[in-house]
Amino acid sequence: MNTYYRVHRRDLPALCAENAYSAEWGMNFVSVSEFRCGNCGGTGDGGYGPDTWTDDDKLIPGEAMPCEACCGSGTEEAQRGYSCCESLAQLADYFAARGGVSPELVDVYAFAGQEMNFSGADGEALVIPDDTTIRKLEPAEWLPAFQTAEAAEVGA
Ligand SMILES: [Zn+2]
Repeated sequence: MNTYYRVHRRDLPALCAENAYSAEWGMNFVSVSEFRCGNCGGTGDGGYGPDTWTDDDKLIPGEAMPCEACCGSGTEEAQRGYSCCESLAQLADYFAARGGVSPELVDVYAFAGQEMNFSGADGEALVIPDDTTIRKLEPAEWLPAFQTAEAAEVGA
């Protein structure tokens, strides 16, 4: 069975199969399976449609439109499964390319689980962990790989 590695924000619900939903990095979850729409910032507001002129030169203001991304709900359904990588080195590279992580805000977990047959926003694996295999890594186990990857990214 494959082992998967994931950076998990400490302000998110605990890492377990039941909570295994993903959105793009940086999205704010409003519940376990829904996140605030990034297109409208959660207002559901899509701005106004175009103003139109009638034949007798009356201006009809555009109608208020719902946000296209979330259809006006302000939230979007997250994808089932956790976004993760198949090695610590891959995970470190993934985050180095996106500005790195703040070690005081995240933990890194290793787990086995069921890989979903679709992938995340960046083409990474989405996996529902097997709760009995979840292990939180000590910073000493993962920080060096991340520091190396970030140094390589800065020098690239
Ligand atoms: Zn929206």
